[in-house]
Amino acid sequence: TIVVTGATGQLGHLVVEHLLRRGADPQDVVATGRDVTKAADLEQRGVRVEQADYSDAARMRAVLEGADRVLLVSGSEVGQRVPQHTTAVEAARDAGVGLLVYTSITHADSSPMQLAQEHRATEQLVRDAGLPWVFLRNGWYLENYTPQIPTYLETGAVVGAAGDGKVSGATRSDYADAAAAVLLADDVTPGTVHELGGPAFTLADLAATVADASGSQVVYRDLPPAELTSVLEGAGLPAPVASMLADSDEGIARGDLEVPTADLERLIGRRPEAMEDVVRAAVAALR
Ligand code: NDP
Repeated sequence: TIVVTGATGQLGHLVVEHLLRRGADPQDVVATGRDVTKAADLEQRGVRVEQADYSDAARMRAVLEGADRVLLVSGSEVGQRVPQHTTAVEAARDAGVGLLVYTSITHADSSPMQLAQEHRATEQLVRDAGLPWVFLRNGWYLENYTPQIPTYLETGAVVGAAGDGKVSGATRSDYADAAAAVLLADDVTPGTVHELGGPAFTLADLAATVADASGSQVVYRDLPPAELTSVLEGAGLPAPVASMLADSDEGIARGDLEVPTADLERLIGRRPEAMEDVVRAAVAALR
């Protein structure tokens, strides 16, 4: 069996959809999460849905027992993830899973970004657990930007602190397809690290694309990170989220989220969707 954790969330749900599209038998797929009402549609398609919190060692072990391959989707509670992932990884080891695939972050081993810390710690605990693993170091989702397009259009600006640094964004769906490909591949080499991302762009490129697609004036306004933090807080974001976002933009400025597209392209067997196409489609959908 193939177990996909986080299948009640956006990425994991898409992984299950890509597994089925790639021909997996739904009966061989187990989808887990905490709020399993969000996986009801998968259950209707014949997938086994199981409630399991990463922090519940006994439940995790029962759900993972004997699984051939398991995708551990990194948790969404920043700051809580190391203990949660520790319990989940130990459960995978104790359950004797054949391969643990973990969704990490770009350059997790060396990235100075705050968001990379929990991923670096998780990668280390997976290595130390002594079970076969593959790391999918997912880059930024293009969906971190697309929901903000109406705001970019209203304000005439993309505001950030990324300077002219490039970010290798790709759609959640393309990252999910890469995960599905690894979960179904005949020839997986344990201990492989995939650095995944789409064609790289600057935030000025993003602004120019929104402008071009909409016919409105949209420019990129670069702020010092501290100023961006205040602007985001002023817009209603909680202080820790605002500072994490500004820190991530500083990471983009340094190149922390830039990778070649080769790994993602090889795994999914086609070119990843580019920012320009995704933004054009999102702008067209607003009309
Ligand atoms: P979502 O928030 O949509 O989904 C997160 C999933 O993780 C949900 O299924 C959630 O379950 C599950 N989860 C979280 N904590 C636990 C836990 N303690 N035990 C069991 N399940 C848990 O995020 P996405 O699908 O969009 O992204 C997947 C992950 O990627 C995120 O969790 C985050 O680590 C990371 N991320 C990456 C970004 C990027 O740009 N690369 C941007 C944002 C996040 P439930 O909902 O049922 O509680």
